[in-house]
Amino acid sequence: MIDDIESEVRYTRKMIGRDALDKKVMAAMKAVPRNEFVPKSYVDAAFDNGPLPIGHGQTISQPYIVALMTDLLELEADDIVLEIGTGSGYQTAILSQLCKQVYTIEYVSALADIAKARLDKLGYDNIEAMSGNGYDGWPEHAPYDGIIVTAAASHIPKPLIEQLKPGGKLVIPVGRPHLYQELMLVEKDEDGELNMRDVLGVAFVPLQGERDENI
Ligand code: SAH
Repeated sequence: MIDDIESEVRYTRKMIGRDALDKKVMAAMKAVPRNEFVPKSYVDAAFDNGPLPIGHGQTISQPYIVALMTDLLELEADDIVLEIGTGSGYQTAILSQLCKQVYTIEYVSALADIAKARLDKLGYDNIEAMSGNGYDGWPEHAPYDGIIVTAAASHIPKPLIEQLKPGGKLVIPVGRPHLYQELMLVEKDEDGELNMRDVLGVAFVPLQGERDENI
């Protein structure tokens, strides 16, 4: 799996703007046992570089995408991170290796319960998980150094921009659900100005419960 990620990074280097991912990100990818996060029937494919079904119509993301999105956040050890779309909890566990605290929100409560129990059992102790609509973020713990959305949004949710710290980064797939989206990196500078960059074409399951911001 690690070799596959490294070769896909090299293959996409022009688009993603790097030849290799941060060593700490790759160390986290090696350390977290992906086999613990996939359904038993898919355990044989746990270390393939592909997405897998996790029930309720959702998927655990492709390892290359997990590594890339994590890398784009450029986390530091004392950072606070918000993740929207806990799913299996795999991305959550990777993030937990690279920052101080991860808050994660999952829309499907059955998946949230499974992921929470799994992360507790595996001993990740800097994660707080809840079930709810991540479109609204998690204002109680804001602002965040990094926000990662692992479901496809039609637009960047305003609450997430508001909950991003100046100097912080947001990584989110934006585009049409069920088709391809553009993985976007949004950086908020110290004056609160936003810089946005399209990184790569991706395909994620849709972000549920989007709100119309014009209402
Ligand atoms: N990071 C996960 C990816 C799971 S797929 C992993 O590695 O396993 C995306 C997840 O986002 C799904 O579990 C889906 O239920 C969840 N999701 C969709 N819309 C959401 C919303 N508005 N708030 C929180 N989670 C959401």
